[in-house]
Amino acid sequence: MKLVGSTADELHRECYVVGGYVRDIFLERPSNDMDFVTVGSGIDVARAVAKRLGKRAHLAVFRTYGTAQVKTRQWELEFVGARRESYHRESRNPIVEDGTLDDDQKRRDFTINAMAICLNKDRYGELLDPFDGIGDMERRIIRTPLDPDITFSDDPLRMMRAVRFATQLGFEIYPETFEAIRRNAKRIHIITRERIAEELMKIMRSPQPSRGWKLLDQCGLLPLIFPELAALKGVETMNGRGHKDNFLHTLQVLDNVAQASDSVWLRWAALLHDVGKARTKRWDPQLGWTFHNHNFIGEKMVPKIFAKMRLPLNEHMKYVKKLVGLHMRPIALVEEEVTDSAVRRLLFDAGDDIDDLMILCKADITSKNQNKVQRFRENFDLVKRKLVDIEEKDRVRNFQPPIDGEEIMTTFGLAPSRPVGYIKDAIKEAILDGAITNHYAPAYRLMLDKATELGIQHAHQGQLCYTTISSPVGSLTIAASEKGIAYLGWDKAGVEKVAKKLRLQPVETVTPLLSQCIKQLGEYFDGTRREFSLPLHLTGTEYQLKAWSELQKIPYGETISYGEQATRSGNPKGARAIAQANHNNPVSIVVPCHRVINADGTLGGYAPGIDIKQRLLSLEKH
Ligand code: ATP
Ligand code: MG
Repeated sequence: MKLVGSTADELHRECYVVGGYVRDIFLERPSNDMDFVTVGSGIDVARAVAKRLGKRAHLAVFRTYGTAQVKTRQWELEFVGARRESYHRESRNPIVEDGTLDDDQKRRDFTINAMAICLNKDRYGELLDPFDGIGDMERRIIRTPLDPDITFSDDPLRMMRAVRFATQLGFEIYPETFEAIRRNAKRIHIITRERIAEELMKIMRSPQPSRGWKLLDQCGLLPLIFPELAALKGVETMNGRGHKDNFLHTLQVLDNVAQASDSVWLRWAALLHDVGKARTKRWDPQLGWTFHNHNFIGEKMVPKIFAKMRLPLNEHMKYVKKLVGLHMRPIALVEEEVTDSAVRRLLFDAGDDIDDLMILCKADITSKNQNKVQRFRENFDLVKRKLVDIEEKDRVRNFQPPIDGEEIMTTFGLAPSRPVGYIKDAIKEAILDGAITNHYAPAYRLMLDKATELGIQHAHQGQLCYTTISSPVGSLTIAASEKGIAYLGWDKAGVEKVAKKLRLQPVETVTPLLSQCIKQLGEYFDGTRREFSLPLHLTGTEYQLKAWSELQKIPYGETISYGEQATRSGNPKGARAIAQANHNNPVSIVVPCHRVINADGTLGGYAPGIDIKQRLLSLEKH
């Protein structure tokens, strides 16, 4: 403040620190953004301050707004010339003219935000508090400096700010001010959802967020900005039986959670945990009031509410959605018998959010009957202990079943569909129930059983048989289906890849076709054979397969370009497809080698994916 003051002195400018920073000095709230008002342009002062701070400072000038910002690692300093404002009916953006400090203080929203401290040397530290902000802080009151109807009508965001400050600071809104909010509530429609969301986030981060929601309700803003929450208000009675007021219950849960955790998203989950109750409320002559499936309905409402209120649609939303959906589960455990499998299931479904879910559920136990609350909380702690025990024993918190949907689809040749989900769930459930252990082999068996139950055939068109032989070029692995040779390469991993692609089950055994292949390979290595005559099992597009079969017709030793080969195969532009086909099918040894010939006729190398042939060719040279 000294540095800014003396800089302003050099420029012969009056300069003040104003608004929130001054307020927070008195309220002893830490803050690192300071707002400065100068009489005359604030931009020059900002420039000079930035210069004096040197390298540490970053200056940003916003000419259109007549403001400038100086940022250091620690501070955010905003500079603006004192101004006077007048408003249009349809916008909260005022017409701005230069003014005095007094004008500037009058345009501020609340008395506690309208104080200024002079920074010029001869008046350093002088407090200018024209609306008795100090008094209002002592009385703990939020009050507008001028006619509140004009203040709120000019900029309806101030209504949200009033509620937010009252919640953050634990202040009351002055009755006259509050009445004006009530009268002007409808004007909130000219404020963007983003700005409203910002204030709501600040309310939610406050020590007792329920205060804010109650104020929003009382002043009539709630149904305008959050109708789904307002819909939870009230008690209906039927044959003398009422249900609890779900709005007040929700706020109680919210405060309980706020006491236990600073996490703002857990607080949102608390606020929304019963949001589905308005839609699911039914009167049942036997059961009384019911809210069946309100957790699931609420879960479905969360993304829509977040989108509408411009809250983030990222993992925070998903987290809130999940907790809303699961919030009945631990309670159900308290009420029913606590079996290991029910606990395992809960752990699995909640994953890493289990602790937060438990905080929410404990907070959800509200009743006027303290004995009941006490008994419930004790049972609840029992569930908690059980959760810890079972997690230690079975580690299901983040477990992944050993067989996933992908594997089920390849095994049975299924597209993503209901049976895939059914089998997947059956495996998961069996593990959670403890019916099978969390291992591949039992899961695989169960998968086959479930498929049989559904009448699904194994998609494996028989098997992909493979064997490994030794040869002059190292050990070779060959694999064949009923249709033909499907793989010839160096390792078993290659076989598995091809098997997956062809939906075949790899089995290590030698079939007649494989013996034939082994025989022909032997002759090739002896130098008594130049061409292979074996059926092939190929993959690729129709065109690629056609191109590939054409490749096989090229006589040993003939040189042909991919382009020319493409023309022969009926697609002059298909050279890439041929290269691709060649690359896709790891059985290249059975076709003549594709050499890449340079324009001058020299050997440029070999087509990609045929390194096995390079090795064979080098063998031939020797
Ligand atoms: P916080 O920083 O905690 O949000 P704040 O009061 O500092 O609270 P800012 O948005 O930083 O709020 O605004 C700084 C000052 O600018 C306020 O103290 C107030 O004097 C003035 N101000 C901000 N918004 C408005 C508004 N909508 N109408 C009138 N004055 C405002
Ligand atoms: Mg501020």
